[in-house]
Amino acid sequence: MITIQGKGVSTGIGMGPLYCYRRAKAEIKQYTVDDTQAEWQRFKDAQAVAMAQLGELAEKARAEAGDEAALLFETHQMMAEDLDYEEAIQDLIENEAWNAEAAVSEIAGQFHDMFASMDDEYMRGRAADVKDVSGRILNILCGVVQGGINSDVPVLLASDDLAPSETIQLDKSKILGFITSYGSSSSHTAILARTMGIPAIVGLGDQLDVIYEGRQVVVDGATGAVIIDPTDDVMADFVAKREEQLRQRALLETLKGQENITKDGKKIRVYCNIGSPEDMDAVKMNDGGGIGLFRSEFLYLNSATYPTEDEQFEAYKAVLTGMGDKEVIIRTCDIGADKQIDYFELPKEENPAMGMRALRISLSRPGFFRTQLRALYRASAYGNLGIMFPMVTSVWEVRETKKLIESVKKELHDEGIPYSDHVEIGVMIETPAAAIISDRLAKEVDFFSCGTNDLTQYTLACDRQNNDLGRFYDPHHLSVVRLLKLVVENAHKNGVWVGICGELGADLEMTETFLAIGVDELSVSPRAVLPLRNKIRSLDMTEATARILAEIDGEASPKY
Ligand code: PEP
Ligand code: MG
Repeated sequence: MITIQGKGVSTGIGMGPLYCYRRAKAEIKQYTVDDTQAEWQRFKDAQAVAMAQLGELAEKARAEAGDEAALLFETHQMMAEDLDYEEAIQDLIENEAWNAEAAVSEIAGQFHDMFASMDDEYMRGRAADVKDVSGRILNILCGVVQGGINSDVPVLLASDDLAPSETIQLDKSKILGFITSYGSSSSHTAILARTMGIPAIVGLGDQLDVIYEGRQVVVDGATGAVIIDPTDDVMADFVAKREEQLRQRALLETLKGQENITKDGKKIRVYCNIGSPEDMDAVKMNDGGGIGLFRSEFLYLNSATYPTEDEQFEAYKAVLTGMGDKEVIIRTCDIGADKQIDYFELPKEENPAMGMRALRISLSRPGFFRTQLRALYRASAYGNLGIMFPMVTSVWEVRETKKLIESVKKELHDEGIPYSDHVEIGVMIETPAAAIISDRLAKEVDFFSCGTNDLTQYTLACDRQNNDLGRFYDPHHLSVVRLLKLVVENAHKNGVWVGICGELGADLEMTETFLAIGVDELSVSPRAVLPLRNKIRSLDMTEATARILAEIDGEASPKY
């Protein structure tokens, strides 16, 4: 039995075989082949598999979203069989004796650059297609598995790290837990694990070794322990622990349908964070009061190219109709930083977390932003929608966004397309700049939602992805708490409500503080709703409020 220790970032106990995530080979090596005919056949076989996969995807897209959605995959099929593309690959294999992977990779690069340098916008758009198709053929040649897992039984998935784009595409029914060498508690992969209710442990470093693949493993997402080849006794202990957790969970079930109210009658709304329409099941199962954050960028991460207006409209409409008259707050696309997407072709940056991300991208690409806003407003006719904007730092950004909204609404009106006139508009407070000018921002919007993951990162100058920063990344830091208090004061003075949608919202050590400073809503992963309700119902704020406010404002206090 071997025990290795990491950091637990999503609770629960997982038991099963360890499986190493199969990723596309980052580096393709060129070598000389002896049998060029056999190598050419290898390419042809891979091309045939790619054609079949694309055909299936086209049919699926047609059934789910219509002909326009299917067209993308059909274009990819044409690209895969394009004569010039194929002949160039054949030339390298048959005349230069290159291996198939290297030939595809080389020609893909050449075609990509050729398309990218063309004047015609449509032809420039083909650069991303050729990259995508070639990536598919390369994956087949290299034996990379679609969705990263090739196992008949559910597994504990091990990896160096998982990008959000990789996590979102995994086959969830196959995963008992995540274990990674790198990563941190506020990385998006950890956030996704919590949303899915799957145990996760990060920061195992070199201790996580491929030699453990296939061996029986137990992980405890609360303590961060990973036990390889557990003895029968240890296994029995974990089975008992899991049963106890299930028993506790069953007790919490009795809180369904109850109010989020303190002993002295203070109420707070408890909503949920989701990443896709499918997460709605978990929201309902856990009795979430609404959706406080729908991270719309996961629609983009889960797609081979920009989701069309219709595709987005269908996804937003599904959530709005599914939630009935409950509020659904959709955040516009927050791409950039750790959430990279190839087809966005974002320039490489030294410090992407402080670069072109979120609303900055939307405002720099008005066509792209309009598509999302049109989809959102079309969907607004089907429920109780709020829209919020990520990574705001200035008032002008909000004003420019509101102007775009007005022109989108006018466009829809002229086209006779229905939309709601009661959509609440909000900004995320996740930069110190936004918190400090929240008095001015409050004049522009209906609500604020505090993104404490980024607010902590930017206030404390601590990369949220870097687990090594340990206690330096401290969301309880007085500076963060003071900013939150300032934001609530400025909001309430202007009749604006305030939520917290960062991971801190579910931190039960902070619930009393949030109630004391007057936060109106907490938006958390679905599984955190009932524990939070339990905590709220156990508190009496009669004396606590004054004590906590004094601790935050005072010269010194035991807590801060
Ligand atoms: C946050 O920053 O707290 C937040 C909710 O947004 P994200 O984690 O997606 O950056
Ligand atoms: Mg954020």
